Amino acid sequence: MRRFYRLLSFFIAAVAVGAPGLAQTPVDWIWTARYVVTMDEQRRVIENGAVAIRGDQIVEVGSRAAVDKAYQAKQRLDRPDAILTPGLINTHTHAAMSLFRGIADDLRLQEWLEKFIFPAEAKKVDAEFVRWGTRLACLEMALSGTTTFTDMYYFEDTVAAATKEAGLRGMLGETIIGFPSPDFKTPQTALAGTEKFFQAFANDPLIIPAVAPHSIYTNSDETLKAARELADHYSKPLVIHLSETKTENDESLAKR
Ligand SMILES: [Zn+2]
Repeated sequence: MRRFYRLLSFFIAAVAVGAPGLAQTPVDWIWTARYVVTMDEQRRVIENGAVAIRGDQIVEVGSRAAVDKAYQAKQRLDRPDAILTPGLINTHTHAAMSLFRGIADDLRLQEWLEKFIFPAEAKKVDAEFVRWGTRLACLEMALSGTTTFTDMYYFEDTVAAATKEAGLRGMLGETIIGFPSPDFKTPQTALAGTEKFFQAFANDPLIIPAVAPHSIYTNSDETLKAARELADHYSKPLVIHLSETKTENDESLAKR
């Protein structure tokens, strides 16, 4: 009798998936595209490819035929003319500066920074400026396929909130600089603020906190060493502007 029920339940399961021995695994989504760019170790580009997704995890990447055979999706996104790729990564930005776009943007770096940007930041930048500027930048990044970015700015906790709100991933660092900034008046307080930022976003799935001394020409050697020590102590990345212009290189070589 038990054997009969076992056979019966096998029969019901086989009917449920349409064919015996071909049980499909349930997933939330199947996305298909003309080309799926995997960026895996073999750098495979799969024509008529598909991606199966459960929760926030990619379960399978393969040919559309193979994925459709193995998985049963609750929802589908079929884009027969599209390329489906991993998100792009913007490795350097100051997202909130989207609101300064167009200010004196045809000048050399030092003149642009010292005569226009640093004064504009001293006058205009507060947490709300950063919130709206970062929201705009995140929208533009998402629309152009960028899913992760590195940022160095002020009010970085507000940058983090806007980044999470957009569903993007950010490696974010509070600017440490040798003059009073819009939120921290000394490099020492910016270092302490960075440490607090680490604690606030210690286990966040989308935020990677970093140490962000602005550059070697806007910080003392003492501050730079303290920044390195802080990054090492917490095993966090350190981001910095380095060797951006001939002037910076010439002056750095002369000084050191
Ligand atoms: Zn920069």
